[in-house]
Amino acid sequence: MPKAEAIKDSNNQHAGYIIYCPACKGYHHLDTRWTFNGNLDRPTFQPSLLVNGRANFENPAVPRCHSFITDGRIQFLSDCTHEMAGKTVELPEVE
Ligand SMILES: [Zn+2]
Repeated sequence: MPKAEAIKDSNNQHAGYIIYCPACKGYHHLDTRWTFNGNLDRPTFQPSLLVNGRANFENPAVPRCHSFITDGRIQFLSDCTHEMAGKTVELPEVE
């Protein structure tokens, strides 16, 4: 089952991919700046994904989420502020 899903923008142009983040319990968007290995079942994206890198300072309730997505797994780096910091887990399937 796919762990990444291609999305399109309002002009029906390819706009990258979404993955479901098990730490933030929501979708993260990797736009066309990321390189993708083309495998929706075992996705690899480069470079790393940083979500809410700044927002966290303004709103501590919003976690900073920094990860590498490699071969269908998501590696949360130690600078994440959520409970999965430092862990590597299988990406959930995209519903
Ligand atoms: Zn996240």
